[in-house]
Amino acid sequence: MDPEATVAVVGLGAIGAMTTWRLAERGVAVHGYERFGVSHDRGASAGQTRRFSVQSQRERRFTPLALEALDLWRELEAATGRRLLDLVGGLILGPADADALVSAARSARELGLDHEVLDSAELARRFPQHLARPGDAGVTDPMGGFVRPEASVAAAIERARDLGATIHDYTRVHAVEPADEHVVVRTPDGARRYHRVVVAPGAWARDLLPAARTTVLPRRLVQAWYLPRDPAAYTFERFPVFERVGDFKAYGFPSLDGSTIKVGIYGTAHPIVHDTENPSRTVGLDLVRSFRDVIAECLPGVHPDPSATTVGLEGYTTDGSALLGPAPDAPNVILACGFSGSGFKFAPVMGDIAADYATKGATARDVEFLSPAREVASWPADFLTRA
Ligand SMILES: Cc1cc2nc3c(=O)[nH]c(=O)nc-3n(C[C@H](O)[C@H](O)[C@H](O)COP(=O)(O)OP(=O)(O)OC[C@H]3O[C@@H](n4cnc5c(N)ncnc54)[C@H](O)[C@@H]3O)c2cc1C
Repeated sequence: MDPEATVAVVGLGAIGAMTTWRLAERGVAVHGYERFGVSHDRGASAGQTRRFSVQSQRERRFTPLALEALDLWRELEAATGRRLLDLVGGLILGPADADALVSAARSARELGLDHEVLDSAELARRFPQHLARPGDAGVTDPMGGFVRPEASVAAAIERARDLGATIHDYTRVHAVEPADEHVVVRTPDGARRYHRVVVAPGAWARDLLPAARTTVLPRRLVQAWYLPRDPAAYTFERFPVFERVGDFKAYGFPSLDGSTIKVGIYGTAHPIVHDTENPSRTVGLDLVRSFRDVIAECLPGVHPDPSATTVGLEGYTTDGSALLGPAPDAPNVILACGFSGSGFKFAPVMGDIAADYATKGATARDVEFLSPAREVASWPADFLTRA
């Protein structure tokens, strides 16, 4: 059985869709597999908006990747005519000494990125929609904004198809089996062989990848839409994409529809999902009430009860960084998972790096810190036990 195409990509969320596009751009014969439809709301790549920023709150090596991603977002927009990335500006705010705020300001300063540091009085004057306590500060991010997740996945697959990619949607991959010179992908339709396979299954990584079994934990993230009392104060021009750090942890977006804004709140770690086949999509009242308290305090001009909610599933590693690169025990299998709540903004460049590994076995990008061969601690055994 000769390989049917050079490369297969398993899982067509943001990361797999972008990988498929980047491979197709290089003229590689690529097959993409997705167990649901193209652009669905069961994984991590849905919910209207995702934050984009080039400032680094944690790892400085992300900034060059974000800048490269920016160019690729624009390339995909130009190729498909779709509007994907809106650089409406960003704002990070919270206690002036909060680590994330200090790091964001430092990364902007060191990398020569435009930004302003606002004290509490200036924060209150410029952005009265937010709570600004004595001791709070803000850092603006003129290159910040948001990406549209559903349209992005659809655009990448549309472009990949135009360039000759074959897409197997509603096709669940049961196994990815490395052999000496090839890799077998098994689906209900049979087995196919490929030279290399990129595996990008998001929260379902543990089902397919031995390397992810103890290191990628599925978690559940809730976001909600709220009604501002004065919607005119929450437009793109007046209300940048924000992240509040420190004692309150929340992020949100300007209004896309002229009447609601979306906010995500994460007081504690996102709950673990044990049953990834039938994850609960119900948002309990206790959670809604805890969100209500944060909204009432941090965004006083917003009605604190949500008008809609959404649940996303995402794979998290213990160190918060993705696994991107050849599997340590099977170099023809490229891992692209564990994006830990921050992969969307980088998706096109992560896809291009996965395409590097799939075509050349190496990448020139500085992403050793994402290598699956690094020491990644396992999650505690009781976190991983399925209910
Ligand atoms: C609520 C929420 C908010 C977030 N906010 C931000 C943000 O503001 N900014 C940011 O940059 N990032 C953010 N992230 C993170 C970002 O969205 C994710 O890192 C990114 O979408 C991950 O994409 P993915 O392709 O790895 O996963 P997914 O989009 O979940 O894709 C995985 C795909 O694999 C498919 N699949 C799984 N198993 C199989 C199989 N066996 N066979 C075939 N197909 C399979 C699934 O159906 C799915 O389509 C957020 C995530 C969530 C959930």
